[in-house]
Formats: sequence, C-alpha cells, structure tokens
Amino acid sequence: MTAAAETLSFQAEVGKLLDIVAHALYSNKEIFLRELVSNASDACDKLRLQGLTDPRLLEGGAEFRISLRPDKASRQLTISDNGIGMNREDLVANLGTIAKSGTAEFLSRLSGDAKKDAGLIGQFGVGFYSSYMVASKVVVESRKAGETEGWRWTSDGQGSFVIEPVEIAARGTSITLHLRDGQDEFLEPVRLRHIVKTYSDHIAVPVVLIEEGKEETVNSASALWTRAKSEISDEQYKEFYHHVGHAFDEPWMTIHYRAEGALEYTGLLFVPTMRPFDLFNQERKSRVKLYVKRVFISDDGHELLPSWLRFLKGVVDSSDLPLNISREMLQHNPVLAKMRSGLVKRVLSDLKKRAEEEPEQYLAFWSNFGAVLKEGLYEEPERKEEMLDLVRFAVTGEEGPISLARYVETMKEGQDAIYTLTGDSIEALKRSPQIEGFTAKGVKVLLLTDPIDEFWVRSVHDYQGKPFKSVAEAGADLSKLAAKEGEEPAKEEDSGAKGQLEALIALMKKVLEASVKDVRRSDRLTESAVCLVAGEGDMSLHLERMLRAHKQMEATPSRILEVNPTHPLILKLAAGAEGEDAQERLGGRIRLLLDQARIQEGDPLPDPHDFAKRLAAVMIES
Ligand code: ADP
Repeated sequence: MTAAAETLSFQAEVGKLLDIVAHALYSNKEIFLRELVSNASDACDKLRLQGLTDPRLLEGGAEFRISLRPDKASRQLTISDNGIGMNREDLVANLGTIAKSGTAEFLSRLSGDAKKDAGLIGQFGVGFYSSYMVASKVVVESRKAGETEGWRWTSDGQGSFVIEPVEIAARGTSITLHLRDGQDEFLEPVRLRHIVKTYSDHIAVPVVLIEEGKEETVNSASALWTRAKSEISDEQYKEFYHHVGHAFDEPWMTIHYRAEGALEYTGLLFVPTMRPFDLFNQERKSRVKLYVKRVFISDDGHELLPSWLRFLKGVVDSSDLPLNISREMLQHNPVLAKMRSGLVKRVLSDLKKRAEEEPEQYLAFWSNFGAVLKEGLYEEPERKEEMLDLVRFAVTGEEGPISLARYVETMKEGQDAIYTLTGDSIEALKRSPQIEGFTAKGVKVLLLTDPIDEFWVRSVHDYQGKPFKSVAEAGADLSKLAAKEGEEPAKEEDSGAKGQLEALIALMKKVLEASVKDVRRSDRLTESAVCLVAGEGDMSLHLERMLRAHKQMEATPSRILEVNPTHPLILKLAAGAEGEDAQERLGGRIRLLLDQARIQEGDPLPDPHDFAKRLAAVMIES
C-alpha cells in the first residue's frame, strides 16, 4: 500500500531563503545550473562509493551520467542523474530544511538590503534552492538506489511542498524546472552548453545535452586533477575549487602535482583567498577529499592532512590504497601517513617559495591563516626548521610583520635571544611597561597575540640557535646589552640613594607580602614607575590570565613587582622609606602602586572599592 499525497511546510529558514531567492535581482541566475549539476555529480560519487561494498546498489548500470533536457513547448528544463537518489525521508530532510553550511552562512550574512543580499547568492551559492531564481515551480522525482518506491516532491517555493509516491523505472533523481516568464534563455542549447563548459567542465561524470533525440556530451568528463597542468586554465582551476571546496572566492594558491615512485598519488590543493567562517570551530578538521583511483572515498575522519593545514581545500587521489578501504583503516594507515608527510612537505615548500617571491601577497595569506599554521609549531615541533621560515611577527620598531630571519639580522650587539611578549592586542603590547627598557636600548621584541603563541614558544625553544625568551620573565638580559649608540650608560646612584631604595624595596616586600612573590629593582623600566613580571620559568602573565578566564586556574600565583629606580615617584617614596612609621605613612601608596601595575597589565583589581578609597585619600593629601 502506498501513502497518498501529503503537504508539508518548509522549515522557517528555508521559507525565508526561498523568498529572497525568488525575488533576487541577481544578474547571474545561470549559477542555478552549476548547483544542480554539482548535486547530481555528488549523488553519483556517493553511489559509486557505496557500490564498492554493496554491488547490488548498482543494478541497472554503473555508467554514471547527468542529462539536461530542455523542452521549449512546455518551457521546462529537466536535469537528471542516475546517482544515489532520495527516498521520502531524504527528500523531506534535504529539500525541506537547510543542510549545507554555505546556505547557513548565506542566511547569517543577510543584511536586509536586497541588492547586497542578491550578491551573496552568487558568493555562497544556495544549492538546490537557487532553482527558484529561474523557476516558479520545481518537481523532483527520485528513487533511491536499492529501493523500489519512487517519490515526487513538488513546490512553488511558497511555504510548503507536496510529497507523493510515484512509479519510477530506474534509480536516480530528475529535477524539472517550470521556468518563470523571461527565463527562456535556459532552454537554448547554445546557452546551456556554454554554462556547463563555464562552471561544470571539471565534473568527472558526463553531462549530456539531449534535444530532439540527439545526445551530446558537453563537458570534458574527466576528473580535473588527472589532466595535465598545461591543459587546465586558471578559470577551470577556479571552478573546480568552487565545486570541491564549497568556496566562492579565488584560490590564493593552487598546488597541483603528481607524486611518483615509492608512493603514487595526485594532489590538487587550494589555499583560499578569504578566511572561511568555520576555520576556528571546535573540530579543526581537514576537509580535503580523499579519492582512490578516481573514486571518492571520504572527506572526513581521515588523517590525510594535519589540522594546522585545515585551510586547504581540494583532493588527493591515491593509487596505492585499496578501493574498499574502511573508515577504521583510514585511521593510522601507514600509506596515508606517508602521503601526509609528502603533502605537508610540498605545501610548506610552496608557501616558502611564495613568501620569497611575493612577500606582500604572502602577508595577506599570513593574516588569514598564520594563526592556524602556527598550531603546527606546537603540534609538530620536529618540523620547526621549515615552519619557522614561514612565520611572520609584529615587532616593536617595525612597520609590518617581519620574518625571524629579518629579526636576527637586526639583533643588537651582545643580544643572544629573541625577545617575545604575549598579550591580547598589538596596541596594548606596544604600550606595555615590560618593553620600555628594550625599546630604550633599541632591542626589538616580537609581539604575540594569538592564543597559540603561548604554547609554541615553549615547545619550539629556538631559531638558528637563538632562544625565544619572554621579556615578561624576570632577570631579563638588559644590563648585558649595550646602550643605544651615542647614549650615556645609566649612572650608578650614590650610596645614600642606594640605601634609600633598598629600604623602600624592603618596605614594599613587607606591605605586599601576601600579594606578590617578590619586589625587585628593575633594569627594564624607563618611563613607568613599576611593572609586574613573571618569575624566570614561571607561566607568562598572559597565559595565566587566559587560563584564569577559562577557569583552568584558581588562585593567582604571586608575581614579581619591579621598581624603576630612576622614576621621580620612586625616588620620592624612597626618600621617606626609613623610620619607624614608614609603613604607616607609605603603606597605602605602595598598594596603589601595585594596583597601577595590575591595571597596566590588563588585570582586574582584586578590590576596586579599596583602590578607589586609597586613591581618594592620596588625592586629598596632595
Ligand atoms: P548541498 O548540496 O550543498 O548539501 P543542497 O541544498 O543543494 O545543498 O542539497 C541538499 C541535499 O539534498 C544534498 O546534500 C543532497 O543530500 C540532496 N540532494 C540534492 N540534489 C540531489 C540529487 N540530485 N541526488 C541525490 N541527492 C540530492
């Protein structure tokens, strides 16, 4: 017994999407065909893969094809495939809700301005739903491979669709578009041929145009990556990138090569120009597609590329893996591991070449994906040689980001470490009291603001034998470094002043005993009176703050408060630091100094109320 026709509502988001699509003043309506042909080709890929383990699914033929049938009399265009097909459940789920990430992204970017939003349709593509740009009614008939029942889905794209059982002779999907007035160009063979050539030439399944009984294959129908580089135009690479990566920008870099010898595979990989919106989501997974002898195997759960190269899109086609490779076999597979290592090497060396040849363009890449690439420094420190050539940093006293090679070139005499400071923003770091002394001596400091920076500087250790060293760690090497040329070395204070300073420091230690680990005289400060630093070997202040923000750390471990011996405020306090009642007189001010250092470091004050009270008291006195 078969069920009767049923009317179902679209998910609210689909309703909204369809409304926009139907009224879009978008000039590039032809992209609907790219989307439908792309879906048809995916459906063939899916069945080809499932047919490997269940050959019965391929009954009726394993020759895949996509056909386009324009009918001028009825003003209908039908796109058919003999791929996996959809049953009732699939139709309801796939064509009644939003399945694809690109479509969700499209919706999230809507501005309400019809013109701008129409442009987004082309940028993100809205899959199947784009058919409503040219059609007032769409009928989908489908029979799933391995099943006997066929289903018809019909909708005018306004709130609901009808689903009903129908007799369908063979597996696969046919999509019939009832064209809107004025869209007859999509019935013209010349036009259809041109659209397929432009957007879908790389599709590995033949796209056949059928008119008046005549059949003509209009695409090249061979997987793009199997063709010779010299036979592929930039335009074709770009269309393939859009198809394979669900992307809508230009590829920033295209890597296409064949590995031969012990291991045989072809890689066709793209680096995007724009940063995809999901780059930093939890999964951190590479979505590069794995093919075996031109059969699509997986775009998920394999270990073909490390997560720190997850911005890459594209395909890798292996000749060495078995076709019936299972999901489990994709984990920890030695062939895959070797391919991975070859691919990583190639990508890194191509990036390096690009960095050398086109440094400006490389900076654009770096600003999009540098933070991801740096994860590799932490996860695979054994690759540090290759990786450290690729990293770029904001540095004090330099305009744009620079390489480590350049940093080393500009190191001062006597400087044997690469100094770093981590924090939330470049602007805040540039004003940090921690770097005052370095700036005064003309020593450059790397300003690190990506969360991953905290971690790799520890695991990587050095570049060309020069250790990375945080300026926030106490005991900085400033005293060893020569002063800026032409500058007087700092004068030693006389013994009286020295004694006063020692008394002040001793007093500060006493007053702040419960709040800091130590109080020290500073070599690094030139303008600020005080600053907080981490002890040698302790966690950096920034890391500590991050961990506390994520509730990974409870109490604040004590830090070191450094005191600028030449600052007028310190000199004044030191002058009164001796005597019985010093603690009573200066205690409040000393606490204020600590709070000031905390504020400069971007730390919250433990007791803002107390701070305000003390500040008011000092202001009244003066
Ligand atoms: P996307 O293709 O990006 O996922 P679409 O809205 O175009 O988004 O399609 C939604 C889903 O419908 C697809 O993921 C696929 O599962 C299914 N689908 C679309 N067209 C076909 C087809 N010709 N054959 C089989 N399934 C299809």
